[in-house]
Amino acid sequence: MKTKPLKVILDLTKGSSHRVQVKILRGGENIPADLSFPVWTPGSYLVREYARHVTNLAPAHKVNKNTWRLIGNPAEVSYEVYCFERTVRTSFLDENYASLVGATLLPLLGGPFEVELKTPRAWEFVASALKFKKIAPGRWLAQVRDDDHWIDSPIIAAAPGFGETSRFVAKGITHHVAWVGMRCAREMKDFEAAFRKIVNASIDLFEGAPFKEYWFLLHFGQKLYGGLEHRDSQLSQFDGQGIAEAKDWDAFLRLIAHEYIHAWNVKSIRPRALGPFDYTAENYTPDIWFSEGLTDYLDDYLCWKADIIPEEAYWKARLKDATLLPDGNPGHLTRSPAESSFDAWIRYYRPDEDSINTDVSYYAKGALLGWCWDAHLTKASRGRWTLPKLMAAIYQEFGIDAYVPLATA
Ligand SMILES: [Zn+2]
Repeated sequence: MKTKPLKVILDLTKGSSHRVQVKILRGGENIPADLSFPVWTPGSYLVREYARHVTNLAPAHKVNKNTWRLIGNPAEVSYEVYCFERTVRTSFLDENYASLVGATLLPLLGGPFEVELKTPRAWEFVASALKFKKIAPGRWLAQVRDDDHWIDSPIIAAAPGFGETSRFVAKGITHHVAWVGMRCAREMKDFEAAFRKIVNASIDLFEGAPFKEYWFLLHFGQKLYGGLEHRDSQLSQFDGQGIAEAKDWDAFLRLIAHEYIHAWNVKSIRPRALGPFDYTAENYTPDIWFSEGLTDYLDDYLCWKADIIPEEAYWKARLKDATLLPDGNPGHLTRSPAESSFDAWIRYYRPDEDSINTDVSYYAKGALLGWCWDAHLTKASRGRWTLPKLMAAIYQEFGIDAYVPLATA
């Protein structure tokens, strides 16, 4: 007989307090005796101490900064999480919509577990790769395989007027599009048309896709910018008013392409340290430049080839990479992209006034290396090989599910 899994209830109905009320209910199995919260979320290499927004966790006492030890063997644990930071690696909740990042909300539970989301009854949708189903007005249910599935599947949800959903099929794969936040200057049909080009060009480039379905999750608001990649989704933020202008629209689409390409380069082709993860500590690798820099190079390349940005914009981006380092970043002479990758946790994500002298962006230097590598390959093979072709070959030969441990040989 299958054991009844743990059940989690996330109550989003007190949006004006920006607090998610959480309950973990014992199923056939006990709630883990020690509840440890993640300290970071993959793709954003900084220890963010998510436990600092967790309050009133009971019945338990704390044993370290991110761990509570349960008292007895309770049938129910409850607490609340303050969610008021509009970024792609933190959670936000108000009366009108939510943008939720799994690592901020739940301790590591193992799994499988069931998650019920309670929203105000009028809310129209919940969008996530977790595939929530509406079971009643204001009640949505999803089955979660394990902690990786939960942490790698952000959730957005909204009241009427504060979001929209749609979907399209490209290359035989259903792609969902959903946005929350401030109404933006473009319409769903604009997103669909542009995203379709990105999808077609990416799947052509890699000759296949590592997912069966994909979610573009968008959060619009004043001065928002950022994206975070996930195995079969992305959560990206942008200033929705700015994208009326061609320049910002191009920048937005490059961001979308960047996070989409990550489904291949970092989720499938990846450094050994980047999956499966230790969610409670830094995960060190000298190779983030490969995951981020080459993705930066490829997003421009792909947007140019897919006719999303003009050729001039592509060459401007290359010129920017080539001149940024010698002109404004003396640290690039002494700092390798591998060193910069390894120390991302304490340097790139925590810049100060001395950073330009002693550090270098693994994005900029990685993209520059990508360009040089592409030029060298093309010349040496007389055009038979290019970096995009090499990446496709690596994906075909070595691409692997994001959470299958890599062989240690
Ligand atoms: Zn990236």
